[in-house]
Amino acid sequence: MDIYRVKPGTQVDLGKWDPDDKAMFDKGKSEGEKAMEKLNRRLEALQELLFAEGKRKVLIVLQAMDTGGKDGVIRWVFDRVNPQGVKVASFKAPTTEELAHDYLWRIHKHTPGKGEMVIFNRSHYEDILVVRVHNLVPPAVWGRRYAHINDFERMLAEEGTTILKFFLHISKDEQKERLQARLDEPEKRWKFNVGDLGERALWDDYMRAYETVLGETSTEWAPWYIVPSNRKWYRNLVISDVLVETLEGFKMQYPKPADNLDEVVIE
Ligand code: AMP
Ligand code: MG
Repeated sequence: MDIYRVKPGTQVDLGKWDPDDKAMFDKGKSEGEKAMEKLNRRLEALQELLFAEGKRKVLIVLQAMDTGGKDGVIRWVFDRVNPQGVKVASFKAPTTEELAHDYLWRIHKHTPGKGEMVIFNRSHYEDILVVRVHNLVPPAVWGRRYAHINDFERMLAEEGTTILKFFLHISKDEQKERLQARLDEPEKRWKFNVGDLGERALWDDYMRAYETVLGETSTEWAPWYIVPSNRKWYRNLVISDVLVETLEGFKMQYPKPADNLDEVVIE
C-alpha cells in the first residue's frame, strides 16, 4: 500500500491521483469483500492484543470532502473491533469555548492513551482546510499551522503514538452521485445538508487546500495516505490493509501473568 503513501516533501497534484484506481486489488468487488472479511478478523485480533498489551497508542485521522466516506470507513473497517479499546472523536465547527483556546486544545484531549485506538472523524486539519477556504482567520495565522501541526504530531509520536492519516479521495462527479442518493433515498435524507452544496461549489479551493496539507504535513512520523475512494469496497480494503500491516509490525505479545499459573488448581 506504499504507493498511496505521500513521501515527505512531495508536491501533491490531486489531478494525478486517480480516485478510481484499484491497482492493489484487481479481482473485483466480490473477491474484495472476501479479502476484507479476512482483514476484519485480523484487525479484531490485533486490536485485542493492543488492548491487552496496554503499551502502544494508535491515532487514525480521517479527512475527506462531504460524502467522501469517513462514516463508512468507521462502520466497515472497524466492524469487529472491541468498543472498549476504540474511540471515535468527531470534530464539528468549534464551540465558543473551543474558539477561545488555541485550535489544538480540543484535539489534544482526545488523543489515545496506552492500549487505545482513536479514530478522528475530521481533525485539526480542518483548521487549515475549511478555515483557509473560508478565510476564517488571516493567511498569516493559518499559514503557521502546518509547522505547528508537524511539531504537535512529532511530539505525540515521540511519546509513543503511532499516527496514520487517510485522505479519502473521491471525484467531484462521484460526490454529485452520492449527494443525489442522499436526496433520493429516504433513509439517507437525514445526512443531506444544504450547506454541503456551498462547500461543493468551492471544490477547487478545497483541492488546493488539501494539496498543501498533503504535501506539507506528510512526515516520517505521521504519514498521509491518499486513498482512492470512488469505490467503497476498495477504499475499505486499502485502509484495513495499512492498519493491519502497521499493527503486525509492532510484533505485540500478550503480557505475562503476574503470578506463576502452572501450579494453580481451581477447586
Ligand atoms: P460533519 O462532519 O458533516 O458533521 O460536518 C462538520 C462540519 O464542521 C463541517 O462542515 C466542517 O468543515 C466543520 N468544522 C470542523 N472543524 C472545523 C473547524 N476547526 N473550523 C470550522 N469548521 C469546522
Ligand atoms: Mg456532512
